[in-house]
Amino acid sequence: MIDFRSDTVTQPTAAMRRAMADAQVGDDVYGDDPSVNRLEAMAAERYGFDSALFTSSGTQANLLALMSHCERGDEYLCGQQAHNYKFEGGGAAVLGSIQPQPLTNQADGSILLADIEAAIKPDDFHFARTRLLSLENTIGGKVLPQSYLAEAQALAFNKRLKIHLDGARIANAAVAQNLDIADITQYFDSVSICLSKGLCAPVGSLLLGDERLINKARRWRKMLGGGMRQAGILAVAGEIALNEQVSRLAVDHENARYLAEQLSSLDEFEVDLGEVQTNMLFARVAEGVAIDKLAESLKASGILISPGKTLRLVTHADIGREDIDLFIDKLKALL
Ligand SMILES: *Cc1c(COP(=O)(O)O)cnc(C)c1O
Repeated sequence: MIDFRSDTVTQPTAAMRRAMADAQVGDDVYGDDPSVNRLEAMAAERYGFDSALFTSSGTQANLLALMSHCERGDEYLCGQQAHNYKFEGGGAAVLGSIQPQPLTNQADGSILLADIEAAIKPDDFHFARTRLLSLENTIGGKVLPQSYLAEAQALAFNKRLKIHLDGARIANAAVAQNLDIADITQYFDSVSICLSKGLCAPVGSLLLGDERLINKARRWRKMLGGGMRQAGILAVAGEIALNEQVSRLAVDHENARYLAEQLSSLDEFEVDLGEVQTNMLFARVAEGVAIDKLAESLKASGILISPGKTLRLVTHADIGREDIDLFIDKLKALL
């Protein structure tokens, strides 16, 4: 299958599978798993934090961050399009009694600083207590400018808010700008990173923060059923993800651009090439194109897409140029 639905579909690399077979493991709930401990220590050190926590998913890492920064009756500010508002089942509200305050995302994915400032509630018992600003980078495949991150950090500091980054695809943001991941994490009190998307690990995310925050998050993780035992078998793949898969993302970005150009040449699709910054593109589908039917026919020839009025296509390690050419040829034939 050539799968354009998401970068979550990537298979673990051969090096990961070998490392997983040979992983030294222990009971991580006792703190005894040397491979988990090594991954957490390495990530904390490399990205400029006291501590890190290996989690079962990005959703769990974000939820732990929200529940560790905020108490019952607090609120976090985030984008209307934020994954940790829109796509995580309302977990902060359901499990943390934390109120989201979503704000409009601009076309570039940012939230206007003026909107953030205006949304901060006064210290008055009518209101939830505004505690946290949560940003996302990349967001919808777009990279938030470093200057914006610096301004958001300054605003959060001045208003006594903490600032969290949903960095599920922070490695894509770093590679797209020729930066280190640490150049992005420096602006935040906490960051979540997915190891299982473009970086190819089979399972897992990391939450980075100071010692107090991570200790709290570790407690919540146990309560949520996320205390894993011989998790080192996963952590070794995560370590390879961070060590060996980051720079490779540049290829995914080039392929996304190539795919966008090819798709733009078809009358039935419209792509704003300026918006294709990393491994994701959004194509508007012309009226009259039966996109659900098209998706079914593509599936019959081994190509998977998520149909929609706007088509989201994602490039990743298991998609090469020749797969893109094949997809475009099939599309032309079917249209
Ligand atoms: C995928 C994703 C997550 C959640 O990761 P899961 O491991 O699927 O729970 C969080 N934030 C963003 C921006 C994502 O793309």
